[in-house]
Amino acid sequence: MKYIDPHIHMVSRTTDDYRQMAQAGCVAVTEPAFWAGFDRSTPQGFYTYFSQLTEFEPQRAAQYGIRHFCWICLNPKEAEDPAFAREVMSFMPEFLERPTALGVGEIGLNKNSRNELTIFEEQLALAERHDQLVLIHTPHLEDKLKGTKLIIDAVRNNGGIDPGRVLIDHVEEHTVSVVLDAGFWAGMTLYPDTKCTPQRAADIIETYGGERLWINSAGDWGHSDPLAVPKTRLEMAARGHGEAEIDKISFDNPHRFLSQSGKFDIDA
Ligand SMILES: [Zn+2]
Repeated sequence: MKYIDPHIHMVSRTTDDYRQMAQAGCVAVTEPAFWAGFDRSTPQGFYTYFSQLTEFEPQRAAQYGIRHFCWICLNPKEAEDPAFAREVMSFMPEFLERPTALGVGEIGLNKNSRNELTIFEEQLALAERHDQLVLIHTPHLEDKLKGTKLIIDAVRNNGGIDPGRVLIDHVEEHTVSVVLDAGFWAGMTLYPDTKCTPQRAADIIETYGGERLWINSAGDWGHSDPLAVPKTRLEMAARGHGEAEIDKISFDNPHRFLSQSGKFDIDA
C-alpha cells in the first residue's frame, strides 16, 4: 500500500517522522508555506523559508524515498501588514517557477479581518496570473463557516480561477458540503483531538462519499500526528471499507488533484 500526505509541514518534523511515514507507505508529501509559530521580522525571512522549502526539504525527504513538493505564499496570520505582505508577494513568482512548487498556498483567512481578505484576494490574483493551483486554509472553530463563505465568494469574484483547481482545507461536518457543492476540492485535516479525528473523517467520507475529497495530517510544530493518514486508512479498513475506496481517498484523489500541475510527476 502507498499513500500521499498532501498537507504536512515537514520543516517542523524530525527525520524519525520521515522514516516512520516511509515505513507506513508514504510516497509523496506536499508542504504548504505557513506560519512558523512566531511572526517573521522581515520579508527576507520568507525568502529564506521559501528557499528551504524548494531546495533543502526535497533532498531531506529523498533520503527516505519520499517525494517532496511545496506551495508558496504568505500565510494569513502574517498578512496584517499589507506593505510587508506585498514585498513578500514580489518575490513569490521566482519560487513558483521552481521544479517542486505546485501552486499558491496555504493562503486563506485566520480571523477573517479586512487586511487578511485584501491580501488573500491579491494572492488569488497572483495565482491566476501565473496559472497556479491554489491551496486554501480555513479558520478554526466558530469562524470557520463564515470564513469559508468569504473565501468562496472571493474566488468567485476573481472570476478567472477554476474551482476544480482549488482545494479548500480543514473542512469539517458543517463546511464540507458548502465547499463541494460550489465545485471545489475539500481537504480534511486529521488531528489527534481537535479538527477531524480519523473517526470523524471516516464518518464524513461515509456521509458525503469520496469525490473531490482528500485527507491530510497537517503535521506541524504543534500537537499533531504525522501518521494520521495511515491511521485513517486503518480506521476505514476496520469499518469494512475496501482497498479501492481507501486508496481513493488517501492516494488517487490527491494524485488526481495535484497532477493538474504538470510538476507532480511521482509516477516517473
Ligand atoms: Zn497547514
